[in-house]
Amino acid sequence: MGYGSRKDVKAIVKKKRITVNNQIIRKADIHIDPSQDQIKCDGKIIEYKEYIYLMLHKPAEYLSATEDQKQKTVLDLIKKQDKVLEPFPVGRLDKDTEGLLLLTNDGQLAHELLSPKKHVDKTYIAKLARDITEQEINQFAEGVLLEDGYLTKPAKLRAIEDKMVEITITEGKFHQIKRMFEAVNNNVLYLKRLSMGSLYLDEKLKMGEYRELTKEELDQLS
Ligand code: URA
Repeated sequence: MGYGSRKDVKAIVKKKRITVNNQIIRKADIHIDPSQDQIKCDGKIIEYKEYIYLMLHKPAEYLSATEDQKQKTVLDLIKKQDKVLEPFPVGRLDKDTEGLLLLTNDGQLAHELLSPKKHVDKTYIAKLARDITEQEINQFAEGVLLEDGYLTKPAKLRAIEDKMVEITITEGKFHQIKRMFEAVNNNVLYLKRLSMGSLYLDEKLKMGEYRELTKEELDQLS
């Protein structure tokens, strides 16, 4: 819970800084039940949590990965006390894509959100090289044939303003949106994810900032 490694925690126990049900403990190898026992460090209750759910406003230039030899990853934006629970990004945004990225250590939820069978909606705004046409809106609604011969699932496309569109897809193929526009001789110049299923990027989060999901957000998502 952000108090350090096993070794660090053993040292804290040795210093008699930990109580279990208000009894100072001297040894770390005792059994506790986090749902029943009250654990304190220096008199402060330690809230036990198994899972962590973080909404990150991903900036460009960060990889959606947990580690990389050379490049910055989204985990570099996560504080140490949250990193100990080993969150990982749920799916990938391209390095140059911004916006909503969920990180969690809940493999079950990640699997459900990413499962192709669940068709979870993902909505993005995109800045394009040229304006879209009516015909392209209809084409996207039917599915777009990518250069590798894959026909995408239907996507909702809506013009917002000059060369700016909102697009909703239900899949997560590699570079999917960029490749869909390339297939109609257009180009994505900027891409930002706004939502994933019921989860919407909190506008209060500045780029690079994150927060835990609220209980309501989590309940709706799972
Ligand atoms: N589609 C893309 O092309 N890139 C992303 O990052 C997400 C969807």
